Amino acid sequence: LAKTSGKHTYRFFDPKFYDALRNRLQREADLRHAIEHDQFVIHYQPRIDVKTGRTSSMEALVRWAHPTEGILQPGSFIDLAEETGLVVQLGQLVLDKVCAQIAHWTRTGDVMVPVSVNVSSRQFNEADISRIFREALARHGVDARLVEVELTEATMMNGDQDINSALHDMHKQGLTLLVDDFGTGYSSLAKLQQLDFDVLKVDRAFTRELGRSDQGNVFFQAIITMAHALGMRVVAEGVEEERQLDILRALGCDEVQGYLLSQPLAPTSSQNGLFRELHRLPT
Ligand code: C2E
Ligand code: MG
Ligand code: MG
Ligand code: MG
Repeated sequence: LAKTSGKHTYRFFDPKFYDALRNRLQREADLRHAIEHDQFVIHYQPRIDVKTGRTSSMEALVRWAHPTEGILQPGSFIDLAEETGLVVQLGQLVLDKVCAQIAHWTRTGDVMVPVSVNVSSRQFNEADISRIFREALARHGVDARLVEVELTEATMMNGDQDINSALHDMHKQGLTLLVDDFGTGYSSLAKLQQLDFDVLKVDRAFTRELGRSDQGNVFFQAIITMAHALGMRVVAEGVEEERQLDILRALGCDEVQGYLLSQPLAPTSSQNGLFRELHRLPT
């Protein structure tokens, strides 16, 4: 084959290309191995109610406890998981861990707030996602009101009728539905209302603009007004500064999440009361 492809042959033997391909295949094999051997841990980042200062929910964020590279953030593997479809199995693993953790917290009488789980579009497209949630909840004896589902605007807008009916089904189960990274995609108001979302998480790109320009505040205000008119609560992502929190409070934003309040934490930190202490709004 190499002979007949003439002068284009060099492409196949370009060592850079070859290295990149080999690295990718190696990474994919690593990831597959990691899923089979469960090398993942979940960290939890609180969402704080602006009015009460209390934790209203926690977001489950996956980390890869890599045997030689240490704890890896999803930024370094979630795209590969998406591209290879491994995110479907990874998602199952995450959901199972989250349900086990909720069941544990319920038994120990520890933190009792809902946990939100990020779900990728491939999980919607390639699996019976509502059944997967139903079965995971049943397996661990977890109340559906303690689990929330985050999906991005892109997932939602690419959604065909199947996604719509899966979402409808999940809502009927009692799961709370959140739109993640709102403002980065192209969702229509009609779609948001039709799909019965409960919470809108505004992307941190918009939080970053608060206090920097009049336009930034006006934009956020418009989202809040719209969301409230549709009966949704609003969460600001990526709150890092006191000033942003002050503006969000003045604009009537319902909840905040970000490093100012807390980093994502290992679940063990809840057992020594750390969660409770951290989950107070700075005044
Ligand atoms: P996301 O769902 O939008 O999660 C928010 C991300 O922002 C998290 O990054 C979080 O640690 C980070 N973050 C929180 N507060 C701040 C802040 O104040 N400033 C800044 N700069 N960042 C902040 P993380 O944990 O690295 O996760 C990145 C993305 O990976 C998530 O974005 C989500 O899309 C995806 N992801 C995480 N866990 C899962 C999972 O279990 N399943 C799937 N499908 N995706 C996941
Ligand atoms: Mg999220
Ligand atoms: Mg987000
Ligand atoms: Mg975001």
